[in-house]
Amino acid sequence: MRFSKIRLNGFKSFVDPTDLLIGDGLTGVVGPNGCGKSNLLEALRWVMGENRPTAMRGGGMEDVIFAGAATRPARNFAEVSIIIDNSERLAPANFNSEDQLEIVRRITRDAGSAYKTNGKDVRARDVQMLFADASTGAHSPALVRQGQISELINAKPKSRRRVLEEAAGISGLYQRRHEAELK
Ligand code: ATP
Ligand code: MG
Repeated sequence: MRFSKIRLNGFKSFVDPTDLLIGDGLTGVVGPNGCGKSNLLEALRWVMGENRPTAMRGGGMEDVIFAGAATRPARNFAEVSIIIDNSERLAPANFNSEDQLEIVRRITRDAGSAYKTNGKDVRARDVQMLFADASTGAHSPALVRQGQISELINAKPKSRRRVLEEAAGISGLYQRRHEAELK
């Protein structure tokens, strides 16, 4: 599966709707300090179901909503969508008949997050599972935060193992087993 586009609207500093085309060979995003590079990566993690505000450098999840600036009022919602090119049919089974997947997450003040896949309302878990099965997601080892390398070096074996499990694409199976055991 290949991400082909990300759209941000009211997410952190991206107050106006912004499309970023993710073309073949894109290897980096450069820009001056504070221009939104890290916000972009956080948007990617967020739309894949990240639910820890600290991973978004915030105190609460609503902190991802554009908070206002000297000349612009704050927004009431933030939305991020990603388009995934599935022409090679690599998406997990229940999505694999589609040429393209669109995943949308929207957070509204005082109303929490809502998710859609190809226009259909789904739960956070469905989106998290979709990416876990595709060996990526909010905790994907492909997304490396500042400071994460030293965290990993100092981590306990159990947390280090979790990183390997994400990379191996088996974390979705663990989650399903955990849920089955609770039933
Ligand atoms: P650096 O090169 O220093 O790492 P960066 O390009 O990664 O910079 P970001 O950290 O992505 O920059 O962006 C920081 C900017 O985003 C700051 O100006 C901050 O005020 C703004 N910002 C963060 N959250 C919000 C929000 N909720 N509303 C408005 N602006 C926000
Ligand atoms: Mg940064």
